[in-house]
Amino acid sequence: MSNQTKPDLMESLISLCKRRGFIFQGSDIYGGLAGTWDYGPLGVAIKNNIKKLWWKRFVDDRDDMFGMDAAILMNQNVWRASGHVAGFSDPLVECKKCKNRFRFDQLPGVTMAKNAEGKNSWQMSKETVCPSCGSEGSKFLSEPRDFNMMFQTHVGAVQDDSSISYLRPETAQGMFVNFKNIMDSQHPKLPFGMAQIGKAFRNEIAPRDFLFRVREFEQMEIEYFVHPKEWEKVFEDFRSETKAFFSDLGLGMSKVHELEVPDGERAHYSKRTIDFEFDFPFGRKELSGLAYRTDFDLKQHSEFSKVDLSYYDEANKERFLPHCIEPSFGLDRAVLAVLADSYTEDSLGGETRVYLKLSPAVAPFKVAVFPLLRNKPELIKKAEEIFKAIKKEIPAATFDDNGNIGKRYRRQDEIGTPYCVTIDFDTIEKGAGVTVRDRDSGKQERVGEKELVAYLKSKIN
Ligand code: ATP
Repeated sequence: MSNQTKPDLMESLISLCKRRGFIFQGSDIYGGLAGTWDYGPLGVAIKNNIKKLWWKRFVDDRDDMFGMDAAILMNQNVWRASGHVAGFSDPLVECKKCKNRFRFDQLPGVTMAKNAEGKNSWQMSKETVCPSCGSEGSKFLSEPRDFNMMFQTHVGAVQDDSSISYLRPETAQGMFVNFKNIMDSQHPKLPFGMAQIGKAFRNEIAPRDFLFRVREFEQMEIEYFVHPKEWEKVFEDFRSETKAFFSDLGLGMSKVHELEVPDGERAHYSKRTIDFEFDFPFGRKELSGLAYRTDFDLKQHSEFSKVDLSYYDEANKERFLPHCIEPSFGLDRAVLAVLADSYTEDSLGGETRVYLKLSPAVAPFKVAVFPLLRNKPELIKKAEEIFKAIKKEIPAATFDDNGNIGKRYRRQDEIGTPYCVTIDFDTIEKGAGVTVRDRDSGKQERVGEKELVAYLKSKIN
């Protein structure tokens, strides 16, 4: 494991991500745009692998789930009904001395407590100081005010109140508003779910910690509808499925923790929430959430849209509004967890090295193929031939003949490629197969050319 201090680890990770083409600061050449990151070829490969694993576990491997891809822009009434226009806000304070703005609930010594009228409110203590200039909080921080985190825009050429729309702050509502469409087109019986992967936007007051708190991100969400009497069992099922998914990603499960969110701290729609937290290098923080949203959303949308969203149970001759269990995953936080968890330093052959101990399922490339030397046409020809045969069966394979073999191994270690195949003179002169090097141990094995593809497949699946 890494022997770096944790802040250093984040710096090393961000720099590796840039150097190797995983993730870049958004709008980099213009000095960046806070809270945005651009995924390069290797980052997008990890992201797609995580999406695939999620879709497989939660959609393809089940017969009770309907995939969705709803529009990001929605009728503004969706966000009135959901409660986001009135209440999707964080408490914002400004330091009167340095003029910087902060999220009040995240400052040291700020806690939620009952005020004189018996209402929950944020209160500061002696420890609360301005994180920028260190001024005493009680003297210099303004009263907190609610800051709505939705990005507002206008749809069409006329900019008045009727044309207001928002970039969605969660993908969930795109599913609730399509509940009736799924019922009418797919005729499912309860329980069933809708699943969607897509962008969400939040104008976070203080974006930070690389991909952890950003203003534009992707969510992977499920709205699973049940009879109100069945919510507890389904909640438990998704609780274990969530852990199974983190294990699919190869995350160290001792770093995943459950937090039962207490009364008063849950979102307005939730009767029970478990946050799945992860030990990130900057602390234990939320990776995903599991919420029991009751019939809050269907009820609100029925009222606001005046469309009946109830469900009729033929067998029991019962009409009711289904209740909803929502497992909600942040894709970018999952990418960050996978990268931070896999970042490893060790020494191999007397040299220190950095490598990403990624599970083959999430690694951008599963196999890299090299000719031993780059200036021998007969080695290159054979290496290309073997590469073609591998790529046909394992598309996430790469060819590398840059620099010397040691450099190539280091490069592939740094991007987390689990296996490197080298074609040498014994391959062409003696028909002695190739060497396959294991990323983690650095050990090499000779494998016959005929057995190679099957051997690699058995290792990466
Ligand atoms: P937090 O308390 O960290 O702000 P949240 O409880 O508001 O998160 P949810 O509304 O439950 O988050 O969103 C579901 C998931 O979406 C989160 O578990 C997280 O993985 C992801 N997510 C939310 N906000 C962000 C963000 N600003 N940047 C990256 N991912 C996010």
